[in-house]
Amino acid sequence: MTHQTDQFKKVISHAKEYGFVFPSSEIYEGLSAVYDYGQNGTALKNNIREYWWKAMVQLNENIVGIDAAILMHPTTWKASGHVDAFNDPLIDNKISKKRYRADILVEDYVAKIEAKIEKEVKKAAKRFGDAFDEKEFRMTNSRVISNQEKAEAILKRLGRSLEKEDLFDVKSLIEELEISCPESGSREWTDVKQFNLMFGTKLGASADSAMDLYLRPETAQGIFVNFLNVQKTGRMKLPFGIAQTGKAFRNEIVARQFIFRMREFEQMEMQFFIPPGTQQEWYKKWKENRMKWHLALGMGKENYRFHDHEKLAHYADAASDIEFQFPFGFKELEGIHSRTDFDLSSHEKFTGKKLRYFDPELNENYVPYVVETSIGLDRMFLAVLSNALTEEKLEGGATRVVLKFPYALAPNKAAVLPLVKKDGLPELARRIVEDLKWDFQTIYDEKDAVGRRYRRQDALGTPYCITVDHQSLEDQSVTLRERDTMKQERITIADLKTIIQQQVAVSSILKKL
Ligand code: ATP
Repeated sequence: MTHQTDQFKKVISHAKEYGFVFPSSEIYEGLSAVYDYGQNGTALKNNIREYWWKAMVQLNENIVGIDAAILMHPTTWKASGHVDAFNDPLIDNKISKKRYRADILVEDYVAKIEAKIEKEVKKAAKRFGDAFDEKEFRMTNSRVISNQEKAEAILKRLGRSLEKEDLFDVKSLIEELEISCPESGSREWTDVKQFNLMFGTKLGASADSAMDLYLRPETAQGIFVNFLNVQKTGRMKLPFGIAQTGKAFRNEIVARQFIFRMREFEQMEMQFFIPPGTQQEWYKKWKENRMKWHLALGMGKENYRFHDHEKLAHYADAASDIEFQFPFGFKELEGIHSRTDFDLSSHEKFTGKKLRYFDPELNENYVPYVVETSIGLDRMFLAVLSNALTEEKLEGGATRVVLKFPYALAPNKAAVLPLVKKDGLPELARRIVEDLKWDFQTIYDEKDAVGRRYRRQDALGTPYCITVDHQSLEDQSVTLRERDTMKQERITIADLKTIIQQQVAVSSILKKL
């Protein structure tokens, strides 16, 4: 087992053991790629969402937030392209019962031909030494030429068949190329089927009149269909943004990797409406803004990178991912897309209604362009959790497991611990909880020796432990223990609130933006 998967396993089991994430309907053996958030996970998720929301809506006077419904008029998904284009072509092997993406089987085959060509070129380069002219060789060697032509012909045919939705021909191609199942070696394939990633459902009670609906596969369309409502009622002037967080659903084929790829997940999206022609400038700005938002959490600059897309989706004229170093490597965490006027124009076509902005400066009506930022809340949760989980060797050989969350994101901010369960210490500790709970999530814990209680709070990522002892009764002071340094300081009870609040408030991170 590699170190990485080892670390990932620890993240998953810690998440379960400490009430962060549970498999959905676990007593029924769970449901694949669906998860529930527990008592601590929910608090962490709420805090991440709050940080995003405040950074977007509260700090920007030209961005407002909405909450659109999960169910939308089904034509929305025709207009957005999801009905026709949110598909993967699937094929099953009859012997291994394994499911594959048909296009990927063919592309893998072509990759093998290309590898053969490269091998041939390398061999020749070695044989001819300095005199080798690679270009000339590629253009004249008969084996290279025929393999090159073969690879191109296959890809061309695949592309054409997929475009025409000629799935019969995709299967013929797999058969003609004698592609076998990587698992079983068998060439017994089912027909190729188009698999749409949207979940279907029905509106209405009677079978005849029921309307076919979809659970939304992204939150963005809820924003586009409300563009005019918000622009008019909020008297918004371009450029302005609409933000939204909420559930999205995708029937993912290969759903693995815990909460990284789920069938039900939450997105945090912001559509920024701008005059056409300014998209490059805003795209650049939003890439920078979003990276700043991540870096302000202090989870390590080296753990982030941009991945600019070469192959663009049908709606985009520029796109980039912010990738994060998860325990299984750098993977997409957030997308920033320049979506042109694709969505609004398409909704205009399908509704026959104008979705335009009157620009008072230009004295002109036009369909705004859009730059979108889109991040998965659950993926962000996984980034924060996996980055926080640390095992430390202590003096004396013991290890402590600690979740080093950014303070503002920690589920609980402080735990109040009476040293013993008598002599009036619990009563004083309770009074402190009563005082602090108005400002931040505070917990009370009197069970077990205080050392074990510290470990328990470390494993939950609680930034501060407040210990009440006999001296507290005399001089109204307590010890304040900090999670990461484990340093303890004697301070007066009256100062607790201010000291802790300064460190744990989300505003402390927001001010870095
Ligand atoms: P991927 O390539 O990983 O499938 P995507 O490019 O399809 O993702 P987008 O449609 O751009 O993703 O969605 C925006 C964000 O939503 C992603 O960056 C990711 O954080 C999140 N997201 C997408 N699909 C899932 C999923 N199945 N589970 C959890 N989060 C998801």
